[in-house]
Amino acid sequence: MRGRTCVSCRRRPASYYRRASGQPLCTPCLEEAVARAVKRSIRGLRAFKPGVRVGVYLGALDPLSAVALAYITGIVERRYSASTIAFKPSYITLGPNASRLIREAGVEIVEAPTPRLQGEVWAPTLLRAERSAAALAALEWEANVALLPVTRTTLTALGVEALMSSRLEYMVDVAENSFEVMGVTVAYGLRTIESEAVRALATLRGLVDISSTITPRYLYKRVYSSVAYSGRPELEYSSLAAVSLIASTHRIEARCKLCGGPAGRGSECCKDCLIAWGCDDRLRRTPRSPPEGRGL
Ligand SMILES: [Zn+2]
Ligand SMILES: [Zn+2]
Repeated sequence: MRGRTCVSCRRRPASYYRRASGQPLCTPCLEEAVARAVKRSIRGLRAFKPGVRVGVYLGALDPLSAVALAYITGIVERRYSASTIAFKPSYITLGPNASRLIREAGVEIVEAPTPRLQGEVWAPTLLRAERSAAALAALEWEANVALLPVTRTTLTALGVEALMSSRLEYMVDVAENSFEVMGVTVAYGLRTIESEAVRALATLRGLVDISSTITPRYLYKRVYSSVAYSGRPELEYSSLAAVSLIASTHRIEARCKLCGGPAGRGSECCKDCLIAWGCDDRLRRTPRSPPEGRGL
């Protein structure tokens, strides 16, 4: 990037080349681009109003994007006199730099409900577990909206995963914009932007000291790379559109009470939440009654 000027402000030297748009950008302009993408991703959810409290789940599906989302949501929400809270499950470790920068962006960091998962977890299962955890955390900490750090890149990878393993019900998790779970809205805060730009922002801002003891497992990463990425980031758009189209053909028999995803007919929760939570006592609670305790 040496010697190039940012095409957005035309003033500062560029620090990042955005492949998806072919633009050299400086760090403040990249930050503004990510902020715009967050606003676009959650448009219509009434998340930008004075007094609103937005929760960001620092999940294992994409930890670097998680920390970037918490930071950027803090900055954006502060402009609207709203507040941001970061939900940290016990499998995530946040280092001093990331903690300090997130707090400086006006974000409070709290302990969140943690699904009972270990080691490598199939990515679509992890997505559902973290969606339910985000909803439970939002109930506990009285957030109006809960955001998951899911980018367009992650959604495409999850869609390919569902398609290749002939598990069309997981396409629904990819195609829908937001989920109503236990009276809480859970949405993907980065669904209109590629991972590469979000992770670059995390790196340029020094938000990299986050780690997780749980990692997502993708069985069809090679297929995903060949159809969606490998130097052609623009293909992500069409891949995600195809995934959404296929998802719309799946008939939903019942909804999982914990993650809002499709559940088997007559089931109160999906198999993934059964693994993640045991799925018992929480189902008997009425919507908007906070779960007891914090450790879960
Ligand atoms: Zn610039
Ligand atoms: Zn579920």
